[in-house]
Amino acid sequence: MSTGCWKLLPFLLAPLLGACATAGASGGGAGSSPVAWLARARVVELGHPLTPDMPVFPGGTRLNAKVLGTVERDGYFIRQVEVGEHVGTHVDAPAHFAPGSATVDKLSPEVLTGPAAVVDVTAQVAGNPDYEVTTADIESWEREHGPLQPHHLVLIRTGWAARWPDEQRYRNADAAGVMHFPGLSLAASRLLRQRQVRAIGIDTLSTDPGPSATFEQHKDFLAGGGYHIENLADLSSLPPTGAFLVVSPLFVKDGSGAPARVFAFLPP
Ligand SMILES: [Zn+2]
Repeated sequence: MSTGCWKLLPFLLAPLLGACATAGASGGGAGSSPVAWLARARVVELGHPLTPDMPVFPGGTRLNAKVLGTVERDGYFIRQVEVGEHVGTHVDAPAHFAPGSATVDKLSPEVLTGPAAVVDVTAQVAGNPDYEVTTADIESWEREHGPLQPHHLVLIRTGWAARWPDEQRYRNADAAGVMHFPGLSLAASRLLRQRQVRAIGIDTLSTDPGPSATFEQHKDFLAGGGYHIENLADLSSLPPTGAFLVVSPLFVKDGSGAPARVFAFLPP
């Protein structure tokens, strides 16, 4: 690993890149530098846009955008926006369930970025909307792709994003009002907490399964200092490994969470 290479390299990218070591060993052509990798990467959006009628968790504050000025009338276009901290594609800060722990503004750029580990459970969910991701799902990913590392952001792909933006189908509530969508079992979440991964993301309303009324998974994982990304969009373009994520929640002081843009840099 050459010093020059490290100068080029935001150290956040280090986990991605055997490429840097290769560049160092071979004299480091610009074409193989991390910056060149990023420049050639395809970047995809993994969030849904905030809209007034998007699906929200019951009780969530929907987007309310009020026009304050128009170019025709005022010379500029400006709106005022009200929105809940946990609607749309958003981050749950640890403080959402763990008093005294980090609020969203305290999540560092280092933990909001990192390599994605994508666990695909679409087959399991296809026959069971209440599917809970198991430790076996996580361990099977690790057998194929290697051990999860503390720099990983683990994304659970259930395929549920295909139901967005139809709130009725996305919540999938029964006659008693109990929602039915996939999430993580407490055991799987505990395993990810043991692995000290930075975050768990999912393409549903919540990392806890829909029927959960006690949010045990939230309580456990957030208390460990990790964070969640919920209501992710379609994850089908992501490989199981090799994508690099940038999660960018609104920088709200003392926030329990915040709506976020989420970008994935895909290997060229
Ligand atoms: Zn949450």
